[in-house]
Amino acid sequence: MSLFYRSTRSQDKKVTASQAILQGLAEDGGLFVPERIPALEVPMEQLADMSYQQTAYEVMKLFLDDFTEEELKGCIERAYDEKFDTPQIAPLVKQDEAWYLELFHGATIAFKDMALSILPHLLTTSAKKNQVKNEIVILTATSGDTGKAALAGFADVPGTRIIVFYPKDGVSPIQEKQMVTQKGKNTFVVGINGNFDDAQTGVKKIFGDKELAKEMEQAGFQFSSANSINIGRLVPQVVYYVYAYAKLYKAGSIGKGEKINVVVPTGNFGNILAAYFAKNMGVPIKKLICASNDNKVLYDFFTTGEYNRNREFILTTSPSMDILISSNLERLIYKLAGEDAEKNKAFMKKLSEEGKYTITEDMKSRLSDFAGGFATEEEVAEEIHRMYEKTGYVMDTHTAVASCVYRKYKETSGDETKTVIASTASPYKFTRSVMNAIDSRYDSMGDFELVDELSSISKTAVPKAIEEIRTAPVLHDTVVEVEGMKAIVKKFLSM
Ligand SMILES: *Cc1c(COP(=O)(O)O)cnc(C)c1O
Repeated sequence: MSLFYRSTRSQDKKVTASQAILQGLAEDGGLFVPERIPALEVPMEQLADMSYQQTAYEVMKLFLDDFTEEELKGCIERAYDEKFDTPQIAPLVKQDEAWYLELFHGATIAFKDMALSILPHLLTTSAKKNQVKNEIVILTATSGDTGKAALAGFADVPGTRIIVFYPKDGVSPIQEKQMVTQKGKNTFVVGINGNFDDAQTGVKKIFGDKELAKEMEQAGFQFSSANSINIGRLVPQVVYYVYAYAKLYKAGSIGKGEKINVVVPTGNFGNILAAYFAKNMGVPIKKLICASNDNKVLYDFFTTGEYNRNREFILTTSPSMDILISSNLERLIYKLAGEDAEKNKAFMKKLSEEGKYTITEDMKSRLSDFAGGFATEEEVAEEIHRMYEKTGYVMDTHTAVASCVYRKYKETSGDETKTVIASTASPYKFTRSVMNAIDSRYDSMGDFELVDELSSISKTAVPKAIEEIRTAPVLHDTVVEVEGMKAIVKKFLSM
């Protein structure tokens, strides 16, 4: 039986999984959703003994059912290999009151690697399946994490090129160094004199440029996006929730069918949506706890039913969660609206015109799978400090948001269900904020001095991703004005 994908904004057209991956966004601006969520086929006893790669196959084959076994296994093998610093790929670590699912063992030490290490292979396989002859050109604007993870994923993947634009003065020194030292003949990193919004708007303009698209086609190229709304990023994220549950079961930490709670530090709502998919596939999950930082749009949504982006944008120490429009929430809204595309479209129209919408009481009553929470900057720092003092475990700022929200949730709800916390970045990626939370005396140290100090106090090795950039030569030094973005794309493609 085939699983097709439809847009959240119109009912009529359906596409295969590989077409949805190639297209990224539906033509009507909606997001692709599977017609139904497939149920897991193998029993938990069997999943318990599977490797990450085997689990990935069992989960992904159900969503990407127009891929052959050979194609999908090939993608999985090329993605989850020695780029990860542990054969477990996503280890579970018990600390204090919960299990931390460490999703930061890939090439760029943040959870984006979990999907971006496989997306390039899913994309090139999809191109082949659909007789696309053009070379795929990935265009991305980044505020830091996504750009590097996409670069690492696409570097030297045949049939692809990747161009990343970042705000020259708008990313951390470590993030910039990570990007400008990127190897790979098909990679191109460009700083722009402007902020992230300028970069994002510039990229959208290039995507929408019909004349350029024609020229590209003639030269044998076509654009695609590595954006988190692509189902080629969502589906690989479902895997680690199934894997985590199976490993807890295998270790005897939970009994057969025992429910767990999952806490996810959230920005664009992609990671927690994947957990929701896992639950709908049959993984015994009770509550999905959505953790926000001071930009608590989602917390307010889950508590009131109103989504309202009209508020101040707050810069926090967990920058990957500094988001006021959570794009992937549209897939949940569509589901809550009874898979009614017209209804969903009306909410999205209100969001783009007025910056807010309120769901109906009926829809609100279907939100019981979720709980929302948030942590302030002070609470996040306290949580990092508390955990380190109590256990010696050092968490990054994003994980600390989730950890703090979990403790507050447990206290107010009295819910003692065993809990998995998605741990989305290595503390080495946000060293300064993490070390400052542990002790203010670190304030005067340099970036790499702090890295060594973190290694010493946490008794963990400095990850390869950080070690490499200490000495790596700068390979990209192009900086352009916002107006020059299109010209530089053409230059890179020798057009
Ligand atoms: C992207 C990111 C998040 C947010 O994930 P979403 O899927 O956008 O909700 C959280 N933590 C880190 C470290 C990230 O890079």
